[in-house]
Amino acid sequence: MRGDTMRVVIVGAGLAGLTAAVELVAAGAEVTVLEARDRVGGRMHGISATATAVADGGAAYLGVRHTALLEQVEEYGLHLASTGMVGDSTFLVSDRRTTTASRVPPLDAVALGDLFDRLEDLVASVRPDAPWSSPQAERLDRVTAARWLADEVTHPDARTFFPLFLGEMMAADPAAISVLHMAFYLRSGGGIRYLNAFEGGAQQWRIDGGAHLLCEALGDRLGDRIRLSSPVAAIEQGDDGVLVRCVADEDGRSSEYRADRVVVAVPPLLAERIDFLPGLRTPRATAATGRGCAVKVHLGYPDPVWRQSGLSGWSVSTDGPLLSTVDDSPPDGSAGVLTGFVTGAEAIAYSALPGDRQKEAALAHTHRLFPQLPPPTHFAVTDWLREKYSRGCYAALFGPGDWLQLGPTLTEPHGRVHWAGTETSLEFFGLMEGAIRSGRRVATELIHGAESAIPSRKVLSR
Ligand SMILES: Cc1cc2nc3c(=O)[nH]c(=O)nc-3n(C[C@H](O)[C@H](O)[C@H](O)COP(=O)(O)OP(=O)(O)OC[C@H]3O[C@@H](n4cnc5c(N)ncnc54)[C@H](O)[C@@H]3O)c2cc1C
Repeated sequence: MRGDTMRVVIVGAGLAGLTAAVELVAAGAEVTVLEARDRVGGRMHGISATATAVADGGAAYLGVRHTALLEQVEEYGLHLASTGMVGDSTFLVSDRRTTTASRVPPLDAVALGDLFDRLEDLVASVRPDAPWSSPQAERLDRVTAARWLADEVTHPDARTFFPLFLGEMMAADPAAISVLHMAFYLRSGGGIRYLNAFEGGAQQWRIDGGAHLLCEALGDRLGDRIRLSSPVAAIEQGDDGVLVRCVADEDGRSSEYRADRVVVAVPPLLAERIDFLPGLRTPRATAATGRGCAVKVHLGYPDPVWRQSGLSGWSVSTDGPLLSTVDDSPPDGSAGVLTGFVTGAEAIAYSALPGDRQKEAALAHTHRLFPQLPPPTHFAVTDWLREKYSRGCYAALFGPGDWLQLGPTLTEPHGRVHWAGTETSLEFFGLMEGAIRSGRRVATELIHGAESAIPSRKVLSR
C-alpha cells in the first residue's frame, strides 16, 4: 500500500469490472482499469440497426428481479423500454408456417408440459448457493444435457423443442453443457418461468438506447482511470505487491502496472490465458468448459411493419439460421428493428459463412417468416464467436465435471488476485445482474480486507 491508499488494478472493463472500479474508487482506492478492447462494455455493445436506431448487439433484456441493474439504470439516469409483445407469434415448425396468439410453438402441449415438469424437478434439486454440493451433484455433473435428453425424453416434439429452449436461454448446444450446469443456470436466473417470460419475467425491458449506455456511463465516471487497448498478458505477485503486464505493442513496448491487489474480471476462458506467477492453485476453466455460441442479426426497417399485420415480430423456427426473432424497435416506433438470434450449434455453422451468405440466409429466413415485409433497409451481424475478448456468449458453458472442479474455488482469491465477472456469480450467473453482483462482491472483499495467504512461488509454480 502507498500510505493508507490501496492501489487496485482491474482487468476488464465489462459491467463487472466497471462496477467494482466505481465502488472501490468511492471507498478511496486508487484504481486503474485495463481493458483489452478499444471500448468499454465487453458483452454489452451497441450497434446501428437503422440510420437512427441503436440496438443491442450483446446483452439486452432485464426484469424486475434484476435489482442491482435497475438501481444502476436509475442512478445513471437511463430509461427502460418495454419489450411488450403485442400481436401474434410466428412459428416455422418443420417448414410449416403458422401464426397464433400463443408464445409456445405448435408442438404437442402434453409433451412440452412433461418436459418442463422434468426440468423444474432438476432445477429444484440444485443448491443455488453451492451447486457442487447438491444431493445429486456428481451424477448430474457427469452427464451432458444432450445425453439426458436422449435417455430420459422420448416424445419427438419434446426432443425438437429442447435444443431451441437451451439455445434461447443459454446459447448452448445441449452436448456442450452438463445437466448440473443447465439446472443451476436456470435456477440461478430465477427459474424457468421467470427466465422465459417477457411480461413479468427476465425479458420485460431493454435499456432505451442500448445496454452499453450503462457501461459508458460507468466509464465516464471513472475517466482516465481506464486504459483501453491494454490486454493483460501476465500477473506476477510477491510479498510486496503485484505486477500486471500488458501484451507488448507493435514496437515491442509492454506497459506494466503495480498494485496492492488485482481484480480479474474477464470470462473464465480468457482468465485461463493470463500467465499467473505463481501459478493458479485451481484452474479458471477446463478442457470441458465451452463458449456460449450466439450470433445476433439486426434487420432495420423504416417502421415496425410487421405490426400492421397484427404480428408481434416474435418467432421461433425449428430450423435455422434464425431460431428466434424479436421486435427490438425503439419505443417511439420511429424505426423498425427485428433482432434474429442464431445460437448453439447453428451459430457455429452460421459464423463460418462469408458475410454475403450470412445476409442471404438471414433475409431468406425472414422472408419465410414474414412474407409481407419489404426488404430491410439495414442489415447488421454481431458475431460473438469471432470476438477474441469474449469467448463465450451469452456466457461460458460449464461442461461435464466443471462445477465439481471449478465451483468451490470460483471466488477464492489467489493471494492478491481476486475474481469477478458474471461467471463468478451464483446469483444470475451469465447475466448482467450477475456481473454487477460479482463486481459489488469483489469490491466488498477488498474494502473489508478478505485476506488470503500470498502464495509462495516455489509451492505454486506451474
Ligand atoms: C448476444 C448476447 C446476448 C446477451 N443477452 C443478455 C440479456 O438479454 N440479458 C442479460 O442480463 N445478459 C445477457 N447477456 C450476457 C451479458 O452480456 C453478460 O453477462 C455481461 O455483460 C458480462 O459482463 P462481465 O463484466 O462479467 O464480462 P464481459 O462483458 O465479458 O467483460 C470482460 C471484459 O474484459 C475484457 N478482457 C478480456 N480479456 C482481457 C485481458 N486479457 N486483458 C484486459 N481485458 C480483457 C473484455 O474485452 C471485456 O471488456 C448477453 C450476452 C451476449 C453476448
